[in-house]
Amino acid sequence: MNIAVVGGGPAGLMAAETAAAAGASVTVYDAMPTPGRKLLRAGVGGLNLTRVEPFPGFLARYGAAQARLEPHLAAFGPDDVRGWADGLGEETFVGTSGRVFPKAMKSAPLLRGWLSRLAELGVDLKSRHRWTGWDGDALTFDTPDGAVRAHASATVLALGGPSWPRLGGGDTWSHLLAARGVALAPWQPANCGFDVAWSAHFAERFAGTPIPTAAFGFGDASVRGGAVITATGIEGGAIYALAARLRDAVATHGSAILTLDLAPDRSEADLARALARPRGAKSLATHLKRCGLEGVRAALPRETVPGFDALSPAAQARAVKAAPLALLRPRPLDEAISAAGGVTWDSVDESLMLKALPGVFCAGEMLDWEAPTGGYLLTACLALGRAAGAAAARFSTSPIG
Ligand SMILES: Cc1cc2nc3c(=O)[nH]c(=O)nc-3n(C[C@H](O)[C@H](O)[C@H](O)COP(=O)(O)OP(=O)(O)OC[C@H]3O[C@@H](n4cnc5c(N)ncnc54)[C@H](O)[C@@H]3O)c2cc1C
Repeated sequence: MNIAVVGGGPAGLMAAETAAAAGASVTVYDAMPTPGRKLLRAGVGGLNLTRVEPFPGFLARYGAAQARLEPHLAAFGPDDVRGWADGLGEETFVGTSGRVFPKAMKSAPLLRGWLSRLAELGVDLKSRHRWTGWDGDALTFDTPDGAVRAHASATVLALGGPSWPRLGGGDTWSHLLAARGVALAPWQPANCGFDVAWSAHFAERFAGTPIPTAAFGFGDASVRGGAVITATGIEGGAIYALAARLRDAVATHGSAILTLDLAPDRSEADLARALARPRGAKSLATHLKRCGLEGVRAALPRETVPGFDALSPAAQARAVKAAPLALLRPRPLDEAISAAGGVTWDSVDESLMLKALPGVFCAGEMLDWEAPTGGYLLTACLALGRAAGAAAARFSTSPIG
């Protein structure tokens, strides 16, 4: 059996590993000069491979797609990801809130170990092969040496989503599947920043400034964490965690009001008492600083609450504990960490095979699911890659089943 894996990201490489371990002869094709570029980039801030938490809570992070993902994540979940990384020589550790990282905190050693394992399994890696569709039964690729055709007994497509196109992302493929009758949900940014109409003064002064720990609230959801002010708005971990809800609210209502508790470890009453202390001849900025509110913590409520400076200490305390931030729109897809949308779940069967294209399987971010950052993305990509690789190997030996 001879299996083609198109796309050499985490999902495709895991599909290749699984199919090769099942005895298949596997070729991985990738458009870029080297595979796994997004995985490498993910390691820049400390590669968050997975998350240790009770399975129901873990699964709930996949929202509407959790039922579809459950069998794959049950078969290859956070513990399996840790064991797999360990097997590649990259021992992991559990950091804050259950986040799991390789001890090296980088992707490069893990990817190196993985590519060596694939080479030992006989996986052939063909870079600079951009998949362009089919010619009859053959897969077709554009390469620096011209067009190339390849035959396979089964194919795994693991082409990723459209975010960060310079890393090999970019939607180069959905039209190819749509032309074959595969349904695709529209792409939307996930784990993205949002635009805010900052005043010119605020944007100039605070663009690039981190908001140290705050509590970010939207509806009944609250996330404690950090974010960063940007020239056009706000981004960062806590924003990404709420991004799907915020994006959907912006789409429905035209904007979304996020509330920021900029002093999450102090009660409103305590803050109001401090703010009520006589200020004397001191400026408001100095007074706020003496109350523990400095830099962006003080500037944000002054920016977002009209007339903040003239409010009573009690009202100022309320504003610091719930500064309203109007989010106007998500940042564009190519800036997002990941994307929602892609091949719909109804287009594939339980083995991830396209109903319209027997023998062609899909894995990874190209399927229609989303999850917050924090290891959920990579875990699902690996689990889906493993499932698709195993199913492709089974199909190759027994196409009917
Ligand atoms: C900055 C950043 C940080 C991140 N940090 C984390 C993190 O810490 N934890 C986490 O869980 N997730 C993180 N992610 C998300 C994670 O990297 C992705 O979800 C994951 O890489 C998706 O895997 P994939 O295999 O589905 O697709 P990809 O990794 O996008 O791989 C798809 C592959 O397909 C290739 N390809 C595309 N079109 C074609 C074509 N026509 N022909 C041939 N090849 C093609 C591409 O070149 C690419 O190699 C991060 C993402 C970014 C951008």
